[in-house]
Amino acid sequence: MANLGDYFGTNVFNDAVMRERLPKATYKALRKTIDESLPLDTALAEVVASAMKDWAVEKGATHFTHWFQPLTGVTAEKHEAFIAPTEDGKVLIEFSGKDLIKGEPDASSFPSGGIRATFEARGYTAWDCTSPAFIKDGSLCIPTAFCSYTGEALDTKTPLLRSIEALSKQALRILKIFGNTTSSRVITTVGPEQEYFLIDKEKYYKRKDLIYTGRTLFGAKPPKGQELDDHYFGSLKENVSVFMKELDKELWKLGVSAKTKHNEVAPAQHELAPIFTTTNIATDHNQLTMEIMRKVALRQGLFCLLHEKPFAGVNGSGKHNNWSMATNDGLNLLEPGKTPHENAQFLVFLFAVVKAVDEYAELLRFAAAVPGNDHRLGANEAPPAIISIFLGDQLTDILEQIENGGAKSSIQGGELKIGVTTLPTLPKDSTDRNRTSPFAFTGNKFEFRMVGSSASTATANYVLNTIVAEVLDEIAAKLENAEDLGGKIQEILKEIAVNNKKIIFNGNGYSDEWVGEAEKRGLPNIPSTVEAAKALLVEKNLRVMEKHGVLSRVEMQSHYEIALENYIKTINIEALTMLEMAKRQILPAVIKYAGKLAESINSINATGLDIDTSAQAELLTEVSKLASSLKVNIKGLESAVEAAADMHENIYDQGYFYRYSIFEKMGILRADADKLETIVDREYWPIPTYGELLFNV
Ligand code: ADP
Ligand code: MG
Repeated sequence: MANLGDYFGTNVFNDAVMRERLPKATYKALRKTIDESLPLDTALAEVVASAMKDWAVEKGATHFTHWFQPLTGVTAEKHEAFIAPTEDGKVLIEFSGKDLIKGEPDASSFPSGGIRATFEARGYTAWDCTSPAFIKDGSLCIPTAFCSYTGEALDTKTPLLRSIEALSKQALRILKIFGNTTSSRVITTVGPEQEYFLIDKEKYYKRKDLIYTGRTLFGAKPPKGQELDDHYFGSLKENVSVFMKELDKELWKLGVSAKTKHNEVAPAQHELAPIFTTTNIATDHNQLTMEIMRKVALRQGLFCLLHEKPFAGVNGSGKHNNWSMATNDGLNLLEPGKTPHENAQFLVFLFAVVKAVDEYAELLRFAAAVPGNDHRLGANEAPPAIISIFLGDQLTDILEQIENGGAKSSIQGGELKIGVTTLPTLPKDSTDRNRTSPFAFTGNKFEFRMVGSSASTATANYVLNTIVAEVLDEIAAKLENAEDLGGKIQEILKEIAVNNKKIIFNGNGYSDEWVGEAEKRGLPNIPSTVEAAKALLVEKNLRVMEKHGVLSRVEMQSHYEIALENYIKTINIEALTMLEMAKRQILPAVIKYAGKLAESINSINATGLDIDTSAQAELLTEVSKLASSLKVNIKGLESAVEAAADMHENIYDQGYFYRYSIFEKMGILRADADKLETIVDREYWPIPTYGELLFNV
C-alpha cells in the first residue's frame, strides 16, 4: 500500500467494486435506484448482499453492522457476526438481502422526545443505498436510516434524505422554466471544514472536565494565547504532522477525500477539509472523520477535542458547511459566471437562498444550536448569534440595481499586480472575503459558518434544503403561469431585493455596532440553545417542514424536546463535574497551600529573628479570602442543581433555569478558581494548566 492511488477507497463498496462484482443487470438497476432515487427492489438487495458479503469477507471482515445516526448527534452500531452454525460443528458465512436492508435495533435507549414510550421498543434501520457501505475495524458498515415502529424518524439521516428529495423536486421546476431538458435531478453538495484541537493524552486524562464534558471548566489565561497570530497556517509540529498523515491515510481508505489540512488560529487548533460531495455522503463522511480523528490521535499519544469551545479565551471550533446545488449532469446552480447580472437562472437560485435564510432565520439558528456552540455564537471570535448573509460587492451591487429597476452591469475583478516582475499577474476575484459573516457567498457556494464542530452536518443541511425548496416552490408557481417570463422574473427578484435585503450585511459581523444595527433591522438575535429550540414550535416552521415532507409535526415536537433534554443533561453534567473538581481537587489543594504559607510564617517567627513575613501573610490572606468565596459559590451552585432536579413541570422552564441560573453560577465559581490558579504555587495546583495543555503538544 505504498501509493495513494492504490489505497484510496480500498475499504469502500464503491461504484468500481459494484461494477466489478455485481451482475451487469443488477449493477445497472442499483445504479438507477441510486441516481434517480427510486424505491429499492428487494430482489436486488439479495444479489447485492451476497456480493457485499464476499467482498467484505475477502477483506477480512467478520461482522456486519447497520450504521446509523440517532438523535444523540453521534453514530451508533451493533455488530453481528456473519456466521451461521452447521450440524457438523462448523459455520456458514451468511448475509442475506434482509440483513442488508432492514435491522431491528432496540430503539428504547435512543432519544425519541416522547414519540415512543420505552415499552414500545421497536425501531428499524433501513439501508441507505445512496451512501456506500464500508469496512471499519473488521466490520462491514451499512449506512442506514433509523425510524420508530410507527415510521417516525429517530435520526438525522431520514430528514436529510427527505429534504434532498424536496429540494430536487422544486429546483427541477425552476430549471424546466429556464428550458433545461437534460437534468433529471438536483443534488445539494456539501464540503464541511472541520476544526479540532489536539492535546497531550496524558494531560487530558488528568482533567475530569475534559473527560466528562469535552471542555475545560476551569483554567486561567496563560501568558500567551493567540494574540501573535503565529499559529494560523504555521508549519506543522512533527507529532501533529504524523497524526495528520495517518489520519489522511485512514480517511482515504474509507473513501473520504480529505484534501486540505492546516493549523488554525488558536494554539493546538487545526483544520481538515474534504472535497465536497453530495450532502448525504458528506454528512456520513464527516461523522467518520470525527471518529477517525479521535482514534488516530490516541495512537499518537494525543487526544482530539471536537468540542466547540474547549478553552475559554481562545478561539472555539466550528464546522464550515459549504453548500451549493448542482444538477446531476454537473451544473453548479450557484455559479455566477462572468456577468451574473445577465444570468437570470443564477439570480433566481441566489435570491431564493437569500429569501429563505431571511424568512427562516430562526430555524437556521436552531440548526446550529448545540450546548457547546453557545460559547461560540455571540462571543468575540466566532460568528455572532445573528444570522446575516455576506454577498460581496459584486452581487450586492446587482441586488441594489434590481431593487432600483433592473441590473445593467456586473463589477469586474480585473487583474492583481503584485509589483514584482518575476511574480505572475493574478486574476482578481470580483469580491473580497469576509470571515465574520455566518452565511457567506464564497464564489459559487454559500458557507454556513455557524455549525458547531461536534455537531452532525445533517441538521443544518436539511433545514437549508427545505427552506430553499419552499422559496423555489413559491417562485416556480409564479413563473409557471407567467405570460411574460422575463418581466415576471424581474418582478420576483425585485420583490426579494426589497423585502429581504435586511439580511444582507457585508460589514464586520464581530463588531458591537452590528448587534445594534441588526436589532434595528429586526433580525433575530437568539442567545442560546434554549431559546433557539423554540423555533421548532413556531407555526410557520412546522408548516414548511411538514409541507415538504421533511419532518412531521410530531417529529418537530420530539426534536424540540430532545434539544432541550440534551441541553439540560449537558449543563447538569458540567455543573456536577465542576462541583467535584472544586470540592475534591481545587479547594483541598488551596487549603494545603494556605497551610504551607501559615507554616512558613510560624517557623520564621519561631526563630525569634526580626524577619518580615508580610509577603506570606498577604498571600495567605488573599488565598484564604478566595477560598472562602469559592466555598460559598460551591454551595450556591449545589443548591441550584438541587432546585433544578425538582423542576419537572415544564421542560422549557427547566432549560431556561439551567441556562440563566446554573450556567451563570458556574461562571462565578470558575472566576474564583481561576484567580486562585494564578497565585497558588504550581506544585500544589492539581490539574494541568492552559499553558501546559495548549503549548505542550
Ligand atoms: P476556505 O478555508 O478557503 O473556505 P477550504 O478549501 O478550506 O476553503 O474549504 C472549502 C470547502 O468548500 C471544501 O470542502 C470544498 O470542497 C468545498 N466546496 C467547494 N465547492 C463547493 C460546492 N460547489 N459545493 C459545496 N462545497 C464546495
Ligand atoms: Mg477553511
